[in-house]
Amino acid sequence: MISRIYLIRHGITEGNQKMWFYGSADLPLAKEGKARLAHLASKGIYPEPEDADLYTSGLTRTEETFGIIFGDRPHKEIDELREMKFGDFECRSYDELHGNVCFDRWIEDTEGDVKPPGGESRQEFAERVSKGLHKLLGLHRLKELSHRHSGKDAVSIVVCHGGVISAIMGELFPQEKKNIWDWIPGPGFGYCIEFENGDPVMYEKINEIKKLGFGLMRPPMKGDEIDIEQMKDMVDVFMDNGYTYFDTAYVYMGGKSEEAAKAALVDRYPRSQFQLATKLPTYSVKKLDDAKRMFETSLKRTGAGFFDFYLLHNLDRDNNMIEDPLGVWDYLKKEKEDGRIVNLGFSFHDTADVLDKILEAHHSDTDFVQLQVNYADWEDEKVQSRKCCEVARKYGKPIIVMEPVRGGSLGNLPEKVAKIMKDAEPDVSLSSWAMRYAASVDGVMTVLSGMSTLDQVKDNVKTMENFKPVTEEEKGLIEEVKAELAKTPLIPCTACRYCTDGCPKKLNIPGFIHVLNEYKLYGYKEVAKTNYQWTIDGGIASDCIECGACEKSCPQKINIIEEMKKTAELFD
Ligand code: SF4
Ligand code: SF4
Repeated sequence: MISRIYLIRHGITEGNQKMWFYGSADLPLAKEGKARLAHLASKGIYPEPEDADLYTSGLTRTEETFGIIFGDRPHKEIDELREMKFGDFECRSYDELHGNVCFDRWIEDTEGDVKPPGGESRQEFAERVSKGLHKLLGLHRLKELSHRHSGKDAVSIVVCHGGVISAIMGELFPQEKKNIWDWIPGPGFGYCIEFENGDPVMYEKINEIKKLGFGLMRPPMKGDEIDIEQMKDMVDVFMDNGYTYFDTAYVYMGGKSEEAAKAALVDRYPRSQFQLATKLPTYSVKKLDDAKRMFETSLKRTGAGFFDFYLLHNLDRDNNMIEDPLGVWDYLKKEKEDGRIVNLGFSFHDTADVLDKILEAHHSDTDFVQLQVNYADWEDEKVQSRKCCEVARKYGKPIIVMEPVRGGSLGNLPEKVAKIMKDAEPDVSLSSWAMRYAASVDGVMTVLSGMSTLDQVKDNVKTMENFKPVTEEEKGLIEEVKAELAKTPLIPCTACRYCTDGCPKKLNIPGFIHVLNEYKLYGYKEVAKTNYQWTIDGGIASDCIECGACEKSCPQKINIIEEMKKTAELFD
């Protein structure tokens, strides 16, 4: 007999949208929250309610959530599982309250015994939830006993609150040592906890998109064209293993990537079986009609009907979209209301302070963020992977990881560096270390890998299939690798190719930079020169007219003109 308790957080309310402290305030679901829940329910992500014991906390938002997911079924209330009472702080935001003496004392309280005026302390809240949990466990145990002889599964489903779920998970799985924020699921999501002999033995997040996404930035090629037949094989292996997230962009390969997504995926699989993400190049939007046209073009090229994830592409300090005089955010929010976008977010390449400013201005418009996260850039001054993840967590935004293998470079480490990993795990690829590192970061929803071959798909699937977060010991080994790598500073090109479209001399800039990096690492000039000659597919490095167009679009802020000069001096 299988014994499971599901904990589901209610959908989005006005309080979530405005980042209020609220618990006992009986807010209903927002219109957007209802639509989102209906969408999730239509994807079949929730457990079957037949023969399960069903509960809510009794507050309106949990009742409404229950109704959308499970319909008009009888259920009971466990009112100890209501959210924390914030007293005078209810329905007010951090910005409104900061500076209030009582609030500052409460927010800085590390013991958990300070109460908001008229509210309850964290300790009181934890004790109340614990009482509710033990009531639930008692009822569930009775269910187990009544099913013992029939062999039927014992299932209980509770629709309650983020803080409550966090407190329950912290009590059931103390060995994980997670903080309260780490346990809080997104609205409409939650956990499935499995029990044996009354004890919690494991848990899974409800319908978390699996932690591997298929990046379509570098698809397999046959001459100058995408090799659609090979791509179909790759998509099939990926889907057969239960992975469902695909990521393309309006600008990838001048639109051919979006078209290939149609041919290899959209035309071959039911729309409900995958998630498709694409991106709007806001840096090219000069008037609102440009954004509308590009959105429509992406829909047409992919044939997807709607985008599960739609991103403003490559935000940074210059292209930050904070002011947005053209009204692009509002236009996309309207598309979201109309159901042609399910989740709205942005990809980001800059420092954490810039991310903080964008999210401060647009946190209520943003469902997720896409960040460059890998072990080499974790503490990097320009990329700031760690700090950016912390900012995303501060605003409660799930993270989609890009460049986990840093454009492939962490899968092709110099021999001396690679040896550290190979000695520890001879049968494991270098890329898999990088993928696991990125997937282990708290708050990561999925990790994109730009896959170009079937072998890469298979290797990634193998890595993520039996995914285990990196251990402390493995982190120590990765630190050794980083220390070794740091001895050879490389040009931080991720091969995104944003620079190439605007180059009047059609230079293969990332190809040349890759050759320069190889030369830095290995020092074999003749080999590097041969590689350089193979890499030329337009102008040569000395054709560069120093116009600077490439540098404007480089998310890594590389001094490309200087690098082209060095390339020319070395190899032309
Ligand atoms: S600066 Fe040189 S490499 Fe860059 S776009 Fe202009 S010509 Fe091309
Ligand atoms: S030079 Fe910059 S824009 Fe060009 S491929 Fe490299 S990282 Fe991308």
